[in-house]
Amino acid sequence: MTLVSENLSMSTSTQDAVVELRDLVKVYPGRGGGADVVAIDHTNLRVEKGSTLGIVGESGSGKSTLARCLLGLVSADSGVANVLGTDTVSAGQRELRDLRGRAGIVFQEPFEALDPRMRIEDAIGEPLRLHRGLRGKALEAKVVELMELVVLDPALRHRYPHQLSGGQQQRTNIARALATEPQLLVLDEPTSALDVSVRSEILSLLVTLQNELDLTYILVSHDLTTIRAVCSHLAVMYLGRVVEQGRVEDVLDRPTHPYTQFLLGSALSLDPDVKTPPPAVNEAGLDTKVDRNGCCFAPRCVATTDPGACTSTVPLLVQRGTTQLVACHEAGA
Ligand code: ADP
Ligand code: MG
Repeated sequence: MTLVSENLSMSTSTQDAVVELRDLVKVYPGRGGGADVVAIDHTNLRVEKGSTLGIVGESGSGKSTLARCLLGLVSADSGVANVLGTDTVSAGQRELRDLRGRAGIVFQEPFEALDPRMRIEDAIGEPLRLHRGLRGKALEAKVVELMELVVLDPALRHRYPHQLSGGQQQRTNIARALATEPQLLVLDEPTSALDVSVRSEILSLLVTLQNELDLTYILVSHDLTTIRAVCSHLAVMYLGRVVEQGRVEDVLDRPTHPYTQFLLGSALSLDPDVKTPPPAVNEAGLDTKVDRNGCCFAPRCVATTDPGACTSTVPLLVQRGTTQLVACHEAGA
């Protein structure tokens, strides 16, 4: 079974790819004798320099696994994950360490990402010591510079993580991720665990930093307003597969895969200002075992006119609009 797109590019531009995934697969062994979990299923993606790729999908669709595979924090089973010229699937520890000096990651839970016994200055200073060999006054000056960059009062540098607010902790994580002047930042739901009032501050910080530092972002988020405001491109994941991708406005304004339509419709139906009925989906299909020889969404899909094709053949990602790639037997047929 393969799921290889004919067209891997997220756009027609000839810019350099910062990330290129080819046929990436990650299967977790089943827990307690249960079935194996296919977290990433033959995924292809390309992210160009300076762009922001949003990744959306329900919980369990493989977004965090994908984010971690990019930096080799989770080792994929097969395929290629070319990140800034390093294939993190086949790379050794030394190459991965070198890559982590050029690409940073920020996680959802700001406090858990920090060592509770490390002062803020040490948390931010650690990558500078490890990757840049900085010590003493030079290290101190760089830590202060980074704290100012992420708008965190340098007076807080002697404190421990538990003495900071959630927003300040996440600013610390962002400063830590930026310490080695990376070209790529992977952001896995960076604002989901924060108070609503702090979320927009952190997001605008991320947007400012991207412009100032010429960064490429991969942003996992379930908040479509954030995605529209921040991302240039979007990939929609369902059970380990990318089912639709393209320029953000194309995917959000003309969702073509039935799952994307369901996801966007669900978000709209939760908005009290929008009187949209919840989108149609076969709820009973949630309990049906997914057959990976066909479309993963088939058990929940109400768009199918040819159930035979949907359950027996994996739909390839094919071009459906100017920039959209859609993996569906029905879309545009
Ligand atoms: P998302 O971030 O989209 O919620 P994840 O990448 O966390 O998705 O998880 C994808 C699937 O892999 C889920 O079914 C999840 O339960 C499973 N999974 C994630 N991490 C592990 C693990 N360490 N061991 C076993 N299964 C895992
Ligand atoms: Mg996740």
